Amino acid sequence: MVELSTPLGKVVGQPSATPLAKYRDVHTVGDLLDFVPRRYLEPGKLTDLSQLVEGEDVTIVAKVDRVTTRPMRQRKGRMLNAVITDGKRELDLTFFSAYGHEGRLVPGASGLFAGTVGRYHQTWQLTHPDYEILDPEEEDEAVHEYLSHLIPIYLPAGRKMPSWKVRNVAQIVLGSLREIPDHVPPDVRKRRGLVDLVSMYRLLHEPATDKDVSRGRYRRKYDEAFTVQTVLAQRRMAAEGLRTRPRLPVPGGLQEAFDARMPFQLTAGQQEVSAEIASDLAREHPMHRLLQGEVGSGKTVVALRAMLSVIDSGGQAALLAPTEVLAQQHFRSITSMLGDLAEGGMLGGSEIGTRVTLLTGSQPAGIRRKALLDAASGDAGIVVGTHALIQEHVQFFDLGLVVVDEQHRFGVEQRDALRGKGKQPPHTLVMTATPIPRTVAMTVFGDMETSTLRELPQGRSPIATHVVSNPRWFQRTWERVAEEVRAGHQTYVVCPRIGEPDPDSGVDPLPREAAQDWSDEDVDVSFDLEESAPAAGRELRGVLEMEAELRDNPALAGLRISILHGRMAPDDKEDVMQGFAAGSIDVLVATTVIEVGVDVANATVMVIMDADRFGISQLHQLRGRVGRGTSPGLCLLVTETESEQVRQRLDAVAATNDGFSLARLDLEQRREGDVLGAAQSGVRSQLRLLRLLRDEDLILDAREDAFAIVTADPGLDRHPALRDVIASALDDEQAAYLERG
Ligand code: ADP
Ligand code: MG
Repeated sequence: MVELSTPLGKVVGQPSATPLAKYRDVHTVGDLLDFVPRRYLEPGKLTDLSQLVEGEDVTIVAKVDRVTTRPMRQRKGRMLNAVITDGKRELDLTFFSAYGHEGRLVPGASGLFAGTVGRYHQTWQLTHPDYEILDPEEEDEAVHEYLSHLIPIYLPAGRKMPSWKVRNVAQIVLGSLREIPDHVPPDVRKRRGLVDLVSMYRLLHEPATDKDVSRGRYRRKYDEAFTVQTVLAQRRMAAEGLRTRPRLPVPGGLQEAFDARMPFQLTAGQQEVSAEIASDLAREHPMHRLLQGEVGSGKTVVALRAMLSVIDSGGQAALLAPTEVLAQQHFRSITSMLGDLAEGGMLGGSEIGTRVTLLTGSQPAGIRRKALLDAASGDAGIVVGTHALIQEHVQFFDLGLVVVDEQHRFGVEQRDALRGKGKQPPHTLVMTATPIPRTVAMTVFGDMETSTLRELPQGRSPIATHVVSNPRWFQRTWERVAEEVRAGHQTYVVCPRIGEPDPDSGVDPLPREAAQDWSDEDVDVSFDLEESAPAAGRELRGVLEMEAELRDNPALAGLRISILHGRMAPDDKEDVMQGFAAGSIDVLVATTVIEVGVDVANATVMVIMDADRFGISQLHQLRGRVGRGTSPGLCLLVTETESEQVRQRLDAVAATNDGFSLARLDLEQRREGDVLGAAQSGVRSQLRLLRLLRDEDLILDAREDAFAIVTADPGLDRHPALRDVIASALDDEQAAYLERG
């Protein structure tokens, strides 16, 4: 019996199976069935040849216009030259032996032609084409079918296996297929109008009409969503099954003391979210909550209150930040918010006080050893750190809460590693400032509860954003910066790269690779840089050059300019951040290290150089660094782009401050994988046809179905086919994770 796991060679023979395995990673019957056509051609309709692109592998429907043969000079035999057409344009086909072709390639015949598009002088050619004549006169039944069906076009598997040979293989496989266990239960299929699995494969591989294709695709997209949601539902159930200690604040404890000294009122949103978190922490199951909120919406305060209630209950909290700069900043701001509450056990410290410890990878050994000790002994109630926190030798006395800031940079695996450090499973709070459209949240963070802070605290100033694309205005930008500094404010200037030190400056230039290698902190730009490689050859602004340029700029004479980037020594970074926070630096030229979380209320201007090189959400994040105080913020997006599309993207950012609508736009414009990020490769590997925005309804349906099934049957004992599909999806995920290392 043929099953999905049957090796393909057993069904279609090794000569066909080998190239598919070699070029397309297709090994089993199931792989082949999942190797679905990229598109479909209508047999009656000639393919528009004006769309051809040189170098591309194509399969087209065309008509033979004329055929000539001539004897070859050096050898025996005759050459054949055929010209095929779509009625307007022509393509040349050349065969070095007329033998076998002459009878088939006759003027007027239509056929399927496959090959690589080439150009010779002014004529387009198909080099070494493969072809199949579609002859309505012919008795052959297969050909008749060709003519009544859409023609599926597959990616070829090497030269020996063009699209239609793959199609033949698919036909054989479909013909031998009896039944496949369907992992979507019949009642769900009925309710959602889904075809069964075998029908789906038939519709995808041998559709008669467009409608067939969409029915097949619909089922397949549903499957993608359903698989992911089932995994998430199981994760959620598993978390529900875990037991942990409730972490309640105590009367007269830290949280109460902190509340009493908080210099402001929590917004209604903050209160609501705090209550949600408090009720999670009161339960005997670990919290698993995502807190999203615009930059500056006050997530940190909310998280800090949760940490304090955990400390009140005798536990510790860890705050995991994606970058060193951000970890330091959190450390500083938490320490200062807590005041003497963070000086537990010290002279002058509060009696109920605790300690806050910073742990990063680049600390000197002594300081680090002390930090490790504080964490392990429980002296530190709060441990703030970078991924250094995740390492094996880091131990906690009683880790009760893990707060992950800016989640999009951390993988699920990292999150889990930190959670493994508690005596009991710790509660988890994930914070993100990148607003996430609902279905993305549901897919990427679908095993978590979600809280959202929608309003900004009172007294926030609006940020005005302008695109500066005319070089005549570039100098005006710097004059504006100078005005702002004279008014007592500060400015950020962000560049897409660090750049190389001037060889004359006496600084050792870094090796080339190092200069191009992005430090941890700069990772986010890379997607844009890779995608739109500097086609025009224009150098991107580097922090180092920019600094030199600004120092020479008369408009900025006398201003205190400093730089900040990921390649600097941690202490230097720290000094610069302190200096900027203290107001002793007027203009900070930096990479995206300042993207997340950096909070200096006196900074009012954000100039972003080569703004076209940044993604929408990233620009939005960056500008969130200004307008945090009482003075209005100004963001200038400097660009020399000539692309209309890029310009539109920048205009969109300038036009609205609504992070959610920008996040949607971002998702529409970027590939899904970029949005999901490296963090989510497991989920991503499940998504092929599904689009997280367009298929919103389908995702909601699949989620509802999956959660209902898992709730009723957590181990999927009554759904063995589904259990198998999930197991193999998780294997893939595991494999992808291991591959990434
Ligand atoms: P986020 O982490 O969401 O970007 P933060 O928690 O860092 O935001 O808050 C940004 C700034 O707003 C901080 O300086 C914080 O002290 C302040 N802040 C937070 N909540 C309030 C509030 N309710 N009223 C006034 N200021 C607040
Ligand atoms: Mg923050």
